[in-house]
Amino acid sequence: MAFNQALPKLVAEAIQSIVGDGPSGLHEPNFRGNELVYLKDCIDSTYVSSVGEFVDRFENDLAVFTGAKHAVAVVNGTAALHIALLLAGVEEGDEVLLPTLTFVATANAVKYCNAHPHFVDSSAQTFGIDPHVLSDYLHTATEMRGGQCVNHRTGRVIRAVLPMHTFGHPVDIDGLMAVARDFNIRLVEDAAESLGSYVEGTHTGTFGMAGTLSFNGNKTITTGGGGAILTNCTELAARAKHLTTTAKIAHRWNFVHDEVGFNYRLPNLNAALGCAQLEKLPEYLMEQRGLYECYATAFSEIEGVSVAREPPGCTSNYWLQTLILDDENASQRDSILLATNEIGMMTRPVWGLMHRLPMFLEASRAPLPVAESLERKLINIPSSPGLGRNS
Ligand SMILES: *Cc1c(COP(=O)(O)O)cnc(C)c1O
Repeated sequence: MAFNQALPKLVAEAIQSIVGDGPSGLHEPNFRGNELVYLKDCIDSTYVSSVGEFVDRFENDLAVFTGAKHAVAVVNGTAALHIALLLAGVEEGDEVLLPTLTFVATANAVKYCNAHPHFVDSSAQTFGIDPHVLSDYLHTATEMRGGQCVNHRTGRVIRAVLPMHTFGHPVDIDGLMAVARDFNIRLVEDAAESLGSYVEGTHTGTFGMAGTLSFNGNKTITTGGGGAILTNCTELAARAKHLTTTAKIAHRWNFVHDEVGFNYRLPNLNAALGCAQLEKLPEYLMEQRGLYECYATAFSEIEGVSVAREPPGCTSNYWLQTLILDDENASQRDSILLATNEIGMMTRPVWGLMHRLPMFLEASRAPLPVAESLERKLINIPSSPGLGRNS
């Protein structure tokens, strides 16, 4: 391995050889199915808002696809995270462990519960929380008091751990579940990026007490904006429905609400879009995998860079294709971003790490060497379904 001065040019050419002359976005929505038919049905029915048959159908289709016992559709993935943390019993003053390498929504949702984010490191292989490093860290930074895991530094209870399946690649969920058991910590999964990703055949987002999905415009499937909470627990599903529908007691005409709930319902119009998108999901997933194979072949020739692949035993949805620069070439990240964006190939660095954002500067954190290294070395490249089919 050595510094490869031609890397920016070679990367730009390799991407172009797969996706064509472009311009090419990072992850564009794709509407090749029944979207217009279902949207028209929805409008004709006048049920475009917070109730309607597409919401029920979308929730049912999501449960069938993921194998979760229940899916509750909500207005976006961030709202899904907020409710999932409440379902797990996260309360004011608690701490929640989460990766510093994530999208800001994961950390914001902890704050919405008046709880405190506590940032931990990632694995270089999965990009998600490393259970071995987490376990060692908790042994030194916490103690068990009355059966609860307490942070030495703050005296606060660590209530939950919130792993995220980065770019669709599953975390080591078995390892994390073992750590959660050892320290009596609840587990909630941010599966916003991993619809269609599996660990040993089980869908991500169905391992913890609850998991969350996002259907934002850049995700594997989109409802315009939308999200869902997955859970195998019938009581938690009922609680999720209640909390997300203004905590209204069902009655033919009376308005009685038994707590401060949220208006987080997914409109029927968006659910109609979701039903059509889910029908095409298996097709998209095949195309995403095919695109990975095209990129992997093209980049196997280029020294200094590789393409992220699914961890062993896992099936990734390959939501965002990702280049990993060698240490020797990490300094070329910004030149590569420039060379690719200049020819209309949209590429992006990974998110700025959470522990450096102004609102999270005071938060507790573990040593974060792997996340800090990944931040310098990762580049997302064009990943829309359908790209690469003609190369
Ligand atoms: C997309 C995403 C979310 C949720 O985003 P919304 O835009 O609110 O649907 C949450 N976490 C991660 C990691 C995401 O990528």
